[in-house]
Amino acid sequence: MRPALLVLPVPCLASLLAAASLLSASAMAQTAGLAPAPVPVNAPYKDAKLAPDQRVADLLSRMTLEEKATMLSGAGWMESAAIERLGIPAIKMADGPLGVRSWLGSSAITSAANAPMKVETTSFPSGVAMAATWDTALVEREGQAIGQEVKALGRDMILGPTVNINRVPLWGRNFEGYGEDPYLSGRLGVAYVKGVQSEGVIPSVKHFDANNEEFERHRIDEQIDERTLHEIYLPAFKAAVQEGGAWSVMSAYNLVNGVHCAESKPLLTDILKGEFGFKGFVISDWGSTYSTAATVNAGMDLEMPGGPPMVAWASTGQPQAAGNGWGWLTADKVLAEVKAGHITEATLNDNVGRILRVIFVSGQFDHPHSGGGEVDTPAQRAVARQGATEGIVLLKNLASLMPLDAAKIHSIAVIGPNAAVARTGGGGSSLVRPKYAISPLDGIRERVGKDVDVKYALGVGMEREDASLTTPEASARLLKEAVDAASAADVAVVVVGRYPKLEGESFDVKTMDLPAGQDELIEAVEKANPHTIVVLNTGDPVTMTKWIEQTPALVEMWYGGQEGGHALAAILFGDANPSGKLPVSFPKKFEDSPAYGNYPGVNLKVNYAEGIYVGYRYFDTKNVDPQFPFGFGLSYTSFEYSSLKIGRYTANGSDPVDIQLAVKNTGSRPGAEVVQLYIHEDKPKIDRPMRELKRFQRVELKPGESTIVHFALDRAALSYWSPEKKDWVADPGTFEIQVGASSRDIRLRAPLGFKD
Ligand code: BGC
Repeated sequence: MRPALLVLPVPCLASLLAAASLLSASAMAQTAGLAPAPVPVNAPYKDAKLAPDQRVADLLSRMTLEEKATMLSGAGWMESAAIERLGIPAIKMADGPLGVRSWLGSSAITSAANAPMKVETTSFPSGVAMAATWDTALVEREGQAIGQEVKALGRDMILGPTVNINRVPLWGRNFEGYGEDPYLSGRLGVAYVKGVQSEGVIPSVKHFDANNEEFERHRIDEQIDERTLHEIYLPAFKAAVQEGGAWSVMSAYNLVNGVHCAESKPLLTDILKGEFGFKGFVISDWGSTYSTAATVNAGMDLEMPGGPPMVAWASTGQPQAAGNGWGWLTADKVLAEVKAGHITEATLNDNVGRILRVIFVSGQFDHPHSGGGEVDTPAQRAVARQGATEGIVLLKNLASLMPLDAAKIHSIAVIGPNAAVARTGGGGSSLVRPKYAISPLDGIRERVGKDVDVKYALGVGMEREDASLTTPEASARLLKEAVDAASAADVAVVVVGRYPKLEGESFDVKTMDLPAGQDELIEAVEKANPHTIVVLNTGDPVTMTKWIEQTPALVEMWYGGQEGGHALAAILFGDANPSGKLPVSFPKKFEDSPAYGNYPGVNLKVNYAEGIYVGYRYFDTKNVDPQFPFGFGLSYTSFEYSSLKIGRYTANGSDPVDIQLAVKNTGSRPGAEVVQLYIHEDKPKIDRPMRELKRFQRVELKPGESTIVHFALDRAALSYWSPEKKDWVADPGTFEIQVGASSRDIRLRAPLGFKD
């Protein structure tokens, strides 16, 4: 958790904020000496019909230097500064990305049972669960639903999506992001951004860049080569900016190649604003600034948090201990640097102009969000439920143990520390407080009704939860109860995994192993009942080597949000056909993962020595067998792939090629398949992974139904980043188009070649 902010009661915070704006108004008048010219009622910037850039130019021309400087830092924990004289509204934010959180202080405060303000909203599935759906349309609907909730609560901005890549299976925030592949993360990031922005709400694509570990997140300096940055850690941001048109990007806490992200000119000015053409504003992660001129000049536009809450937070001493930086972009500091000639007014205009532009483009200026709307509506819940259901990945299903037939089963034992509690998400700033949450046990009970006898056993106390349940005596008793329940039932469902104290923001997961006692619980239950289904409720892969060989059925439900239990029951009993596919490779053990040996770093430096070989790019190229490969997931039906055809294309690849294939549902249930297209270069001039995902499509098919899937592939999709040319390069040569159901299950192959 981020260090706690001094807990201030609501009225006290509000009056402090009011005092802050009075103070800055008088300070402004004092510094300016002159009163600024009055603003005519029909000033052009107020005209919604004018182009945003015209409005920005007009407004900037009316602002004093002091007013501009005031806009570079927040006025509160989650509000930017308003300039009342000109009618510039504060941007009112809320944390995300997995739903809308309370905004009154750090997550330590807003998650506390006695939080000063409780905001209860829809808890959507974790990012990794949404990624497992590979359903861009659904993620767009999720973004829209979240945008609606933001507006309904009178806020303007949601701090998400998280598109950081899963580099290490131990990153505490893997559950928030979209997995290990830059293309998949990009598609989902674009979808989320589009959904949020369709409601006139500002998203913030985070954390730019390469926030891939929580270990010393404010001080860790990541050594990442240019090609790896461009091929792995930047594409999702690029897509969100260029294709999603994202209005804001959040800079990360960490350092990249020796520089804190918030003052990295290479990242913010050269790449984000230059190469990607980003037109929105950059917001700092909370407490991640360490200088004034260098930060402003690097292109970091809005420092957060600010105002009295920031001062109160600093007075706790906790940010100092954690290594945060803050308070560098306050008006007085910025003005001093302007006076000293270290920041030009043109730079200030660019930074402020970006914030203003978003206020205009998003519609916030013309149609302020007044709040008072409804949240957690049936439609929003339905999106959460669909996401939780589509995201569940069926990993093993021997002898078709699943789906369970409720008509044939008389008794079911539901066991485990994650069975009776709804573990909806990982810890930290993304953990939403829902109005209700369905646990696996609730979901199963509701599904089977009174006809099936459902027995519950805890089995093992959750690590670091209730010490009285983890004593040797309690552990022996709980294990015995679980074994008894399992032996007496037709089927046993063991739900294991982690929870926010073991997997969350600001700390990494200690080990890839399941928490204490859970492996033993699985082994004991499997011995007691041959019809055991193991359900993982985690955001990361876990070690399974102790039991996986004996396990008849295995399901990854991730953190499924408030509807997780309903979704699990629907999959267990076949009301829904599993269609989730892993957005991340599951290594057998941590030692097999590509970053092993280069994590968490030495002397606060971490070398991304594996380079572009992240996830399946590593496993497939270096022939290391994962426990379950990227893109993998079983179904209750089967799909046949055939007739791969590469359409006509010009020799130099000037136009996109149409690639098509047929997919048929050859089983007896309706189901969805995620068709994945990878490219492989035959004799690359430079080192390239065995395969790289370039397209995918989720198709829903009835039994016996088939469809033709088309992919448009341009030559750019075949390119790599050349540090020499400082550009993407697609060499002439021969490629193989590989289409399949996972990175290790390539069903169809066809050559494709380009000449110059
Ligand atoms: C997190 C961000 C979050 C911010 C505001 C930071 O600690 O890294 O993701 O949006 O706090 O709560």
